[in-house]
Amino acid sequence: MSKLWSPFVKQLVPYVAGEQPKMKRLVKLNTNENPYGPSPKALAAMQAQINDDLRLYPDPSGEVLKQAIADYYHISPAQIFVGNGSDEVLAHAYHAFFQQDKPLLFPDISYSFYPVYCGLYRVEPKPIALDEQFQINLADYQQDNGGIIFPNPNAPTGCLLGLAEIEALLQNNTETVVLVDEAYIDFGGQSAVSLVDKYPNLLVTQTLSKSRALAGMRVGLAIGHPQLIEGLERIKDSFNSYPLDRVALAGAAAAFADREYFEQSCAKIITSREQLSEQLTSLGFKVLPSAANFVFARHPQQDAAQLSIQLREQGIIVRHFTQPRIAQFLRITVGTDEQNTALVEALAELLNKQ
Ligand code: PMP
Repeated sequence: MSKLWSPFVKQLVPYVAGEQPKMKRLVKLNTNENPYGPSPKALAAMQAQINDDLRLYPDPSGEVLKQAIADYYHISPAQIFVGNGSDEVLAHAYHAFFQQDKPLLFPDISYSFYPVYCGLYRVEPKPIALDEQFQINLADYQQDNGGIIFPNPNAPTGCLLGLAEIEALLQNNTETVVLVDEAYIDFGGQSAVSLVDKYPNLLVTQTLSKSRALAGMRVGLAIGHPQLIEGLERIKDSFNSYPLDRVALAGAAAAFADREYFEQSCAKIITSREQLSEQLTSLGFKVLPSAANFVFARHPQQDAAQLSIQLREQGIIVRHFTQPRIAQFLRITVGTDEQNTALVEALAELLNKQ
C-alpha cells in the first residue's frame, strides 16, 4: 500500500487472483465460462481482422456489432451500447444514471461488483435481502430510490424472475433507471429486451462472455431507450472513444449472427445443468433451481469451504463465498460432460470418506 493512495483506493480489495489460477489441466468450474468455446464463424472473423490491418483504429461507432445485435433483437442500433465486457457497461451506467441523492437498490446476495461500483461512483447502496427461498422479491423494491439494479437470473443463486414481475416493477417505478443485468439470460430465461420500447427507464445489459463464449474478448452491451444509450455514449466517449478493438467487434458481430451455433451450445449447457443438478441431489446436496450456466448447491452435512479446498487439491475449482448467508453453498459452473463427471466423482469420493 502506498501513502500516495487516496483513502478510497486504500480500502479497495483486489479481485481474488485465485479465481484465475495459472495451473494447467484444471477442471475450472469457478467463473462461469462457457466450456464449448465461441462459434467457428466468430473465430474466422477474428482471424480475418488479425490478417487484415491492426495498424488502423477500430470503427468508433461499433456499427458492425450494433447492427448484428439490432438484427438479432429486431431493434434499432440507436437502442444499443457496446463496451468492454458488461462490467465496463455497468460502470458507465452507474456513472450516467445512479449518481443521485437517493440510494441504489440491489439484492443482498448478488453480483459482487454492485457495491464496489457504489464505492467507486459515490452512490449510496441499499441492499435488499433475498427472501427465505433465496429469491428476489421485486415488491420489496417499490420504495424511494435513485435507481434499481438486479441480475436476471440472479448470480450466484441462478434464480430466475419472470417478465410479468419485472413489468409490475416498471409500472410502479417510472422516475429512475431500472437496470436488468442479463449476463445469464440465454440459459432458459426470457429477456426484458422485449420491454424496452414500452419503458424508457429500462436498461438491459448483456455479455458475450457466457452464452457466446467470448469472455477473453471482453464484450458487453446495453439495450434501452436511445436517450439512455446517449447517456452511456457520453460517458464512454469522455473515457475512451473506441468502444472495442477491431478483433472484438468482428468476433462479437459474427457470434450474434451465428444463431445456430449459439442455440446448440446453450441447449447443451441447459441439458448438462439439469443432469448435474440431479447428480448433486443424489449425493445429498440441496440445489437451487437454476436458469444460468451454473448451479448453487449446499450439502447439509458438509462444510462448503472445506469441500472447495479438497476439490482444489485435485485440480477441480469451484466458487465458494464467505458471506455468512451463503457460506454453506458452492457455485459450480456447468462444464463439459467430462468435467461434470470428474466433479461428481470427486465429490462422491470425498463424501464417502467423511
Ligand atoms: N453481471 C453478472 C451478474 C456477472 O456474473 C458477470 C460476470 N461474472 C458480469 C456481469 C460481467 O461479465 P463480463 O464483464 O464478462 O461481461
